[in-house]
Amino acid sequence: MGEGRVNRPTEAPDLLIRLEELVPMPTREELVARAETLYRDLELSAVQEWKARAPGRKAIGHMPVYVPREIVHAAGMLPVGVMGGGDQVEIIRGDAYFQSYICQIPRSTLELGLSGRLDALDGMLFPAICDVIRNLSGMWQLLFAGRYAFYVDLPQSGDLRLSADFYERELRRLAAELGALSGHPVADDALRHSIALYDENGAAVRELDLFRSKEPAKAPAHEAYLIMRAANLLPVDEHTQLVRDYLRAARASERPPLDQSRVVVTGAFCEQPPLELLRTLERAGCYIVADDFLLGTRAIDGPVGANGADPFSALARAYVERGVCTASRYDPARRKGQWLIDTVRARQAEGVVFCAPSFCDPALLEQPMLVAALDRDGIPHTAFKYSENLGQFQVIREQAGTFADTIRLWGPEASA
Ligand code: SF4
Repeated sequence: MGEGRVNRPTEAPDLLIRLEELVPMPTREELVARAETLYRDLELSAVQEWKARAPGRKAIGHMPVYVPREIVHAAGMLPVGVMGGGDQVEIIRGDAYFQSYICQIPRSTLELGLSGRLDALDGMLFPAICDVIRNLSGMWQLLFAGRYAFYVDLPQSGDLRLSADFYERELRRLAAELGALSGHPVADDALRHSIALYDENGAAVRELDLFRSKEPAKAPAHEAYLIMRAANLLPVDEHTQLVRDYLRAARASERPPLDQSRVVVTGAFCEQPPLELLRTLERAGCYIVADDFLLGTRAIDGPVGANGADPFSALARAYVERGVCTASRYDPARRKGQWLIDTVRARQAEGVVFCAPSFCDPALLEQPMLVAALDRDGIPHTAFKYSENLGQFQVIREQAGTFADTIRLWGPEASA
């Protein structure tokens, strides 16, 4: 090596600074555009590329709402969120396997599978959230008999110790199967490392949540949604970096606040609303300051924190003791209404929008309880339903616009 190519130690720091100056940080527009490309990536090309980077890599899909992605990661595989086909897939075969009066997500998920778009996945996890997902898991195993599938039986008991013991056994069973599939048995240290990475991710996601709530003009809900949704396809550390980069860019952006009404959106924890629906709510005059979209990224309140502990036990206890309230979870303390009221107060929201998928039993069956709680507290609310492939938004725009105007002009006493 010639002398001219050797870096002298005294030059190294300057060189680093100059390199940083040469590589510009991505802009907010670039970050959102990247996230939107991932949102539209139904062929899972990002997953295919990840697998192609090292021989033998495997990826495991999972349905909403929540699965323990830490276990998949600790087995050396990529967890991949599958959230149906949205408004991008024409259902041709998926309809043949389900009755008419159920939600859309199982049909479009089967359509994705039958059309080969999920071929990059080496297995699928189905969390126990409702009968529809249970039926989908059975249908999946019949149609894709050679592929790995696991029904993640989430605890639904009022006895926390019993629930934690049960869930810990379930986690160990899943870890043993995934370890056998990947050829990397899940060691305690590997799981602690994975939990730490997901805890970091959760902290970044919560920071984004809080920032959006404080400055919704700088981080509109549809942008934050895309950034959060990228967690479905990106490795966890890359997603954490994406969230941090977006936060930095959003904080630096100059977007003045508008005279919009602050609302909490609830009911959309599984089948996701079309992106255009979020834009419609914002254009109708709503700032969405809290929501339950993509709940899996924040299904546990706070970090799991497995340092020095048995990681399986820590994961199980965190889910059982600090899992967030949602319709697909049994709530022995009957705090669901109170949880929603607490969220409204903490985020200084002025009203609640019930926004649930058509035929979603868990969301629609708990809605009357939540409505009663809001009425007792004098919190305005309105409700509508959607399906992931909804294409017409005019009616929702008018309804949300009227609601936003009402609470802005006449305050919380004017219930919808
Ligand atoms: S949208 Fe509702 S009913 Fe449909 S699979 Fe999800 S939780 Fe179940």
